[in-house]
Amino acid sequence: MNNENENSFRDKISTVSEEGNRLWVYPKKPKGRFHRARIVVAIILLAILFITPFIKVNGNSFFLFNFFERKFILFGLVFGPHDFFIFVLGFIALIVFVILFTAVYGRIFCGWICPQTIFMEMVFRKIEYWIEGDASKQRALDAQKMNGEKFVKKFSKHLIFLTLSFLIGNLLMAYLIGIDETLLVVTQSPNLNFSAFLGVVFFSLIFYAVFARFREQACTIVCPYGRLQGVLLDQNSIVVAYDYVRGEPRGKIKKDEIRTSGDCIECGLCYDVCPTGIDIKNGIQLECINCTACIDACDEVMDKVGFSRGLIRYASLKNIQDKIRFKFTTRIAIYTLILTLLLAIFGYLLTIRTDVDIKILRIPGMLYQDQPNDRISNLYNVNIVNNTFDSVQVKLTLKNIEGELNIIGDDLNLDEQEKFEGRFMIIFNKSQITKVNTPIEIGIIIGGKEVKTVKTAFLSKIGSGKNEK
Ligand code: SF4
Ligand code: SF4
Repeated sequence: MNNENENSFRDKISTVSEEGNRLWVYPKKPKGRFHRARIVVAIILLAILFITPFIKVNGNSFFLFNFFERKFILFGLVFGPHDFFIFVLGFIALIVFVILFTAVYGRIFCGWICPQTIFMEMVFRKIEYWIEGDASKQRALDAQKMNGEKFVKKFSKHLIFLTLSFLIGNLLMAYLIGIDETLLVVTQSPNLNFSAFLGVVFFSLIFYAVFARFREQACTIVCPYGRLQGVLLDQNSIVVAYDYVRGEPRGKIKKDEIRTSGDCIECGLCYDVCPTGIDIKNGIQLECINCTACIDACDEVMDKVGFSRGLIRYASLKNIQDKIRFKFTTRIAIYTLILTLLLAIFGYLLTIRTDVDIKILRIPGMLYQDQPNDRISNLYNVNIVNNTFDSVQVKLTLKNIEGELNIIGDDLNLDEQEKFEGRFMIIFNKSQITKVNTPIEIGIIIGGKEVKTVKTAFLSKIGSGKNEK
């Protein structure tokens, strides 16, 4: 790989010709143990993806990303515009997570979890193989003039692609506006939900364009995660890699010849199966989505020629250079620990979240007020955020001591996602107060049920013998 020609792949995208035209990729049908495992993972993830919009928690979606009305639900917990800081924290945690995860585990996400790869390789591509056959047959079909057979195959394929894209378009809408709204869009006249209907049509056409035509270009040209691989990966990152130490120099197998070449027999199968049209033997490339198709293809070849598997495998460049198999190093352990901690902290933040946030604080700089009839009062600020999509009625009661609690102004009735900032006053008879600082407990009652107790203090100078402001 030393001369200029051998490095020429670095100067261009594998799917674009010298003239700038698209080079269509016809990957050979993948098969093998990794592919079978990926099918299982894909089925599980697709089931989760399609079932989740139907799951409800307290009448709300389990996940909702309604950017239009600024309503968000994660794991059944409702978030609104006032939760911006949680989103910022979550976003920062996500970025750190992505950086660490990629530094250690490379593009495992792209090959195994990314919806683009799953839909493309496990759904649309499989339908294409089913209708048009393997790579060579697809190539021949595209090359031939339009005739009855070609028309039927192309028409049925694109009809299924369109139907599936429509289904995925609706699925996306279900995550954006909720399943009930989406079902209304599907079952009612478009005039009744025109903007949502336009959304479904728009997303369906986008998905059709991506899966029928744009395909791997989404990963190599558009996806920001793919573009960032150059800075996220290092020599220790685990990626799908060709073991050049073992494979080079390449050489075809010749009958009755004592082999002096490396283990790569130059069969080209790793290239033939690649859905992004690259040759993994050229080293780690931006286009590689770590789909493992070349691992399976090469393992099959190695089995046939009697060499050990793993000429292409999950490995870091360091593993290959130092001729060692993958080891769970201290670095990986530390990064994994940090990743787990990040997930745990974010999970904890989600679990401690309540439907209604209440903060009660004494008004700063104000001690107490004398009231008529030998009484004394303190003023408090109360901040309430209704995190739900329902209106709530909040009541405050004194729990540990008899007294009056008077809300100043409106009652504490909050509409969905409403934020309330108000004041209330607590009044006692002076005879009740024996200390400068009397601890008090305020019960928070929502919908007739006490959900929380807030502890605060009532200040006076009675206990000090100077009952004056
Ligand atoms: S499949 Fe394996 S043996 Fe065949 S060209 Fe690729 S690396 Fe070499
Ligand atoms: S090089 Fe291998 S792992 Fe990477 S995209 Fe191509 S077939 Fe998949």
